[in-house]
Amino acid sequence: MSAPPTDLQDDLSTAALPGDLALLNTALAHLPTGLCMFDADDRLLLANANYLKVWGLPPQLGRPGVRFADIMAATQGREVDTDPALAAKGQALGTRYREWLMADGRRIRVAITRLPDGRCVALHEDITGQLAVDGRADYLARHDALTGLPNRSALRAELQAIMGTVSAQRPLALLFVDLGHVKAVNDRLGQAGGDDLLRQVARRLRACTRENDHVFRLGGDEFAVMQTGPLQPAGAQSLANRLICELSSVFDLYNGRANISASVGVAVAPPDGQAPDQLLRNADLARSKAKTQGHGQLCFFEPGMEGKVAATRALAADLHQALPRGELELAYQVQVNLTNMQANGVEALLRWNHPELGRIPPDRFIPLAEQEGLIASIGRWVLSRACHDAARWPQQIQVAVNVSPVQFRTDTLVADVTAALQDSGLTASRLEIEVTESVMLQGSDAVLQQMHALRKLGVRVAMDDFGTGYSSLASLRSFPFDRIKIDRSFVRELETSTDDLAIVRAVAGLGHSLGIATTVEGVETQAQLDAVLREGCSDVQGYLFSRPGPAADVAGHIQRLSLRPA
Ligand code: C2E
Ligand code: CA
Ligand code: CA
Repeated sequence: MSAPPTDLQDDLSTAALPGDLALLNTALAHLPTGLCMFDADDRLLLANANYLKVWGLPPQLGRPGVRFADIMAATQGREVDTDPALAAKGQALGTRYREWLMADGRRIRVAITRLPDGRCVALHEDITGQLAVDGRADYLARHDALTGLPNRSALRAELQAIMGTVSAQRPLALLFVDLGHVKAVNDRLGQAGGDDLLRQVARRLRACTRENDHVFRLGGDEFAVMQTGPLQPAGAQSLANRLICELSSVFDLYNGRANISASVGVAVAPPDGQAPDQLLRNADLARSKAKTQGHGQLCFFEPGMEGKVAATRALAADLHQALPRGELELAYQVQVNLTNMQANGVEALLRWNHPELGRIPPDRFIPLAEQEGLIASIGRWVLSRACHDAARWPQQIQVAVNVSPVQFRTDTLVADVTAALQDSGLTASRLEIEVTESVMLQGSDAVLQQMHALRKLGVRVAMDDFGTGYSSLASLRSFPFDRIKIDRSFVRELETSTDDLAIVRAVAGLGHSLGIATTVEGVETQAQLDAVLREGCSDVQGYLFSRPGPAADVAGHIQRLSLRPA
């Protein structure tokens, strides 16, 4: 073999002799891959410079006559499995592919074609760089570009790999995490704000989990955690609670602050599924159930859940039609002032008259409306209907309207209240908005701003269900409420429970010193009323005076109460 040409001119001059060996030699020398040929006895017939380079061999091992076994002995690598797809492709072409992993980490692929006379031709390629490129494509296919977390197909693959090893002693919990209110954040802070939020969510999820747990982003606002460890379902329960808690605290995004919530559904293998698809489906059902129970809920998969989830989905679909079909209605419950025992207001309570299922209580469909993004339009209708009804009642009768925390996130609440007052002509001071303290837990200044804006309109603001949450007193400090509504759970055993009595007494005292009205909810008996009277609350509401009823009955209730001796 002659030495490789040094420039193109040499090439062209040899090319002037077609068929000459020199021509082949030039081609071989310039081939970007290594090439060699062995005879039937595995002795080298020819090899190009790249062959030596690929294998890192000294020049003497490229000379004709060198035995294959000697070359092998000089290579610093070991043979590894070839990609099965490539092997199959090679078989069809009469070519065998073999791969070596070199001591320096390079990977070399050889395509060997045996000729009928026993000789063989082989092409040698360093595929390290190419694999890195392919590996990148594979990485991207299995990871979410935004958060860097493995994605749904990675989860499926991982489950497929691990499910065989799962047993009662080595269980596996799959937690599906569903975020609430991400859309509102996107609307308010734009796509970039939303992206920042999701990246921070991924970080919090990773921070909550242990090394052996794996976090995935399934898409949109859905994440998953795969938890291994012997203690199930307790392990999943405490992890889920941690996740819910962590994700509910405020996010400091680069262009603003945001609050979201998380619902978690859990399926545990082996009991809830032994095949990956079954476990995935059941974790998803548990997630759906958790979501319909309201925000920040945890739900474990249970047999029979499929039917219930399907029923809830059907109900959600019907709820989209409820308002346009006129199936929603307000019931009013009278509130009574304890100093003169006269009606001084009513609370508007929403009812859904479902065409087939009959009357559905608000506790069941309001969380659904929140989740389906319907609460803003439904809430707007409630405000408008209540203000129009109240405008027809005597001046001294106020109307209280419940407002969901989700309505505070929609940014249209103040405008909706203003419109309802204007359209109905109701004096602002006759409208009272009832909020639960969870609205304060949203923590953002935007919520407080809206509450102040409502008060500026002249509307009153009441804190509902006082005492049922975690931070009722803290909430009282952060906003000057006009009224505290003591939850009816404190009234149920008022006659027998000294604790409940002490709480009602304390809240009444608090109201007195802060100059806030205190309404006791759920008064059903005369004995309860007597107890409430003794403690000095300002107002009551309950079945003892009236059950929630149609607007048309309100005037009658007011009349009846006015005839009652004080
Ligand atoms: P809430 O605001 O605490 O409303 C008081 C609930 O107590 C009402 O249940 C009422 O019917 C019930 N209640 C009143 N007096 C008594 C009594 O003496 N004994 C007993 N056992 N119960 C009494 P309802 O109408 O089922 O409403 C449930 C919840 O649904 C409400 O609790 C409120 O949180 C929510 N809700 C109702 N209407 C609306 C609405 O228009 N918007 C929003 N966002 N939530 C609403
Ligand atoms: Ca209420
Ligand atoms: Ca209440």
